[in-house]
Amino acid sequence: RVDVVTLGETMALVAATTTGSFAVGAPARISFGGAETNVAIGLSRLGHSATWIGRLGADPLGHLVKDALRGEGVDVSHVRTDSEVPTGLMLREHRTADRVRVSYYRRGLAGSRLTPDDVDTDLVAAARTLHVSGITPALSESARAAVHTAVDAARAAGVPVSFDFNYRAALWSVTEAGAAFRDLVAAADIVFAGDEEAAMVVPAGSVEEVAKELAALGPAQVVLKRGAAGAYAVVDGESFTEPALAVSLIDPVGAGDAFVAGYLSATLDGLDPAQRLRRGNVCGAFAVSVAGDWEGLPRRSELATMDATENVAR
Ligand code: ATP
Repeated sequence: RVDVVTLGETMALVAATTTGSFAVGAPARISFGGAETNVAIGLSRLGHSATWIGRLGADPLGHLVKDALRGEGVDVSHVRTDSEVPTGLMLREHRTADRVRVSYYRRGLAGSRLTPDDVDTDLVAAARTLHVSGITPALSESARAAVHTAVDAARAAGVPVSFDFNYRAALWSVTEAGAAFRDLVAAADIVFAGDEEAAMVVPAGSVEEVAKELAALGPAQVVLKRGAAGAYAVVDGESFTEPALAVSLIDPVGAGDAFVAGYLSATLDGLDPAQRLRRGNVCGAFAVSVAGDWEGLPRRSELATMDATENVAR
């Protein structure tokens, strides 16, 4: 029985390693990233089994993503190779010391061509958790249908559904996304959102009010990710707050996915809500203090290193 099944889009990444515009001969780092694979890698590093469902192109970047996921221990046996279109790509420029610009080449490409047929509903029904994000339904009609197929299969089998808003303004409007997210919140057991994202579905208000309003739509656990302010949750009607860890910010991308991996890991371990938030914060702290979307995610044996008072462990 797999701990977590997740589905979505993952793209290759070319990230400049020096500051300034892209230029001929400039050094760059090749990697990949996608919200759901970031979560799957995080869970795998923490010792859980994770299956990712998605499409990659029959090209070198598709192989790169699949091989790397396999190397991270993520089950890729349900990944489909789409030979008609390439793997999606992100270009990340460090335009200035403080401004990062990401360009996406994803429209109509492999990741967006996910369909309900790609979702093995028996696999979902046998999982301990299904995790989906609000990016996938924005990619295409078929990807949106795939999310609903997975969510329906999980619900029918009593498998808890985890949903992270992950609103991407470049993909759809607040109105369109808000309506889609409302349905997913109502279908989910665990909901993750940022304060502003939450206000796409419920009236804006204090953190407490927004979380309570979201919980009123159905989910037993509502978790608000609050960046350097840590995280807040309402679990079965009870509130919990945990501060973020004090770390040096190197790269904020992927913090949210790291947090989700930590929170779900602690949930799978049967830990209480405060401990779930704490593990989420620890994973978020690892993510923001290392370059890369997922590269900094901790292994289980490393979780305690964030508690250390010395900078060097020997
Ligand atoms: P992203 O979309 O960039 O991946 P997000 O907006 O979903 O992130 P954030 O709230 O920014 O999520 O961050 C998730 C978690 O990561 C926070 O709840 C916190 O635990 C941790 N985190 C984020 N920023 C910092 C920071 N500057 N210092 C320490 N921890 C942080």
